[in-house]
Amino acid sequence: MSGQLKGEKVYHGIAVSAGVCRGRVIVLRRTRHVVAKRTLALDAVEPEVRRFEHALVRTRQQITEIQRRVSQTMSSSEADIFDAHLLMLEDRVLIEEVIKIIREQMANADYAFHTASDRYIAVLAEVEDEYLRERAADLRDLSSRVLDNLLEVKELFDLRHLSEPCLLIGHDLSPSTTAQLDKKFVLGFATDIGGRTSHTAILARSLDIPAVVGLKNLSDDLETGDYVLLDGYNGTITVNPTDQTLFEYGQLAKVKASLEEKLREVQHQSAVTLDGKIIHLSANIESLDDVEAVLAHGAEGVGLFRTEFLFINRASLPTEEEQFQVYRQVAEALKPHSVIIRTLDLGGDKFASHLQLAQEMNPFLGWRAIRFCLAQPELFCAQLRAILRASASGNIKMMYPMISGLDELNQANALVARCKAELRAENIPFAENLEIGAMIEIPSAALIADALAKRVHFFSIGSNDLIQYTLAADRTNEKVSHLYEPTHPAILRLIKMTVDAAHANGIWAGVCGEIAGDPVLAPLLIGLGVDELSAAPAVLDEMKYIIRRIKLTEAQALAAQAMQVDSPTEIFAHCLEFARSTAPSLFENKM
Ligand code: PEP
Ligand code: MG
Repeated sequence: MSGQLKGEKVYHGIAVSAGVCRGRVIVLRRTRHVVAKRTLALDAVEPEVRRFEHALVRTRQQITEIQRRVSQTMSSSEADIFDAHLLMLEDRVLIEEVIKIIREQMANADYAFHTASDRYIAVLAEVEDEYLRERAADLRDLSSRVLDNLLEVKELFDLRHLSEPCLLIGHDLSPSTTAQLDKKFVLGFATDIGGRTSHTAILARSLDIPAVVGLKNLSDDLETGDYVLLDGYNGTITVNPTDQTLFEYGQLAKVKASLEEKLREVQHQSAVTLDGKIIHLSANIESLDDVEAVLAHGAEGVGLFRTEFLFINRASLPTEEEQFQVYRQVAEALKPHSVIIRTLDLGGDKFASHLQLAQEMNPFLGWRAIRFCLAQPELFCAQLRAILRASASGNIKMMYPMISGLDELNQANALVARCKAELRAENIPFAENLEIGAMIEIPSAALIADALAKRVHFFSIGSNDLIQYTLAADRTNEKVSHLYEPTHPAILRLIKMTVDAAHANGIWAGVCGEIAGDPVLAPLLIGLGVDELSAAPAVLDEMKYIIRRIKLTEAQALAAQAMQVDSPTEIFAHCLEFARSTAPSLFENKM
């Protein structure tokens, strides 16, 4: 029974990853410490000093334990970060100041520590030296841990070490947290904010964990231990589901099981239309671990390898050698299919905490992807060299994210030429004719696609960003999700312009944004002339199922009709009607 809610209650949000699950929830709250001043009796002062010292000892034990666990599972550099915390714990100036406040003001330890550490943090945050300024964040972390111990706040859930299946509920989950979720124990998750193409949602689909976002104040209403049912098809969370609701979902599970059987039949067949048009269907991946799913769903290689996930959730940058090993292993595992490695796309909603980048007002419009890489040639060249070295396997291609114009493309290519020259001089093998593509995800790139097409081997349309940048609708913000319309005529025109420019110049064009994995939109994209679709491995079976039921000529007629319509809703309705009538089984799991 819910802590605050009695009886069944349904919350509506945005469905971002398919599947239904139910169970007890863990509500992830950020700890907010309420620290009030209390005046102590004279004989309580020295015990309070001891309570403070005990909290320091306890904190030291916890940090040492975390450090031990981290060094077992990760490189020692990750574990080293905790050395700084341990050193701060021994800072005599801070400790003596706290004891002085306890004794002189006869104040409680939590108040004394909070006051002293806040003063320290404020001073550190103001200093000119960047290194010292960054220590303010470490001290904030540490002081929060000491306060947890003084106030006896329970440890925040360590998501890497869950021991029982649960559903996670939070105001938000960052892509870096989502990337760490253990599929064995996290049945599903739901957040108050977020959009369908936020990287958190993309990761949920990639991990094949049911998820719903944009549930407004769900996390305030729920308590850890509440029982909920999460429906990742229809975007709902039902708290305290009744027997009737559970029965209805039981029926749904039967429908789903029979669909899965049908989908298994096409899993290892090719994605070919009834009139013989072969669509190259490949997978989007984030790590080496995803290769298994790529093979299981019969994808023809990888159309997008988001390499930035190699850079986050760690204390330092991956070396060239480390990257080379990952790229090489992915390529070897998927031979003879090709693997398109996208160069680093940090920024936007994906950050590497160890890079300590300044916060920006508009991160999606700021220092992201190729812009960031061109400004950090050393970091970029380490990746380019790693990709080039791995390309000796013969099945690697590479593409740049966020190309906005020719200059960026030329600059990136110049760095590739430099890395190639270095490798030649070092006698290190690589594919001399490595194919390089540009992602088309900024309207300016689509508008000059004819010029770009003459300088690359292929295009990959990043519709997630192309939609957000064309319609000025933040892909992570549920408040503008109604404006984020893939079937907006402006999007269709930009896609068509890109595909036509590619074909006029003898190159191919694919789509690797989330619309490429939507069976409702696939016929439209195929009708617009798209040659390749790349999507999360788990959705590829449905894609094959529908592609094998349509004719290219019908898809072309659908696209031609859509290009004549002004209303995004109407275009979507045409697509839905077409998909429903072609593959009704795919829609039977809608409540
Ligand atoms: C896109 O923008 O569509 C894309 C595939 O890249 P990402 O989602 O990683 O930004
Ligand atoms: Mg993108």
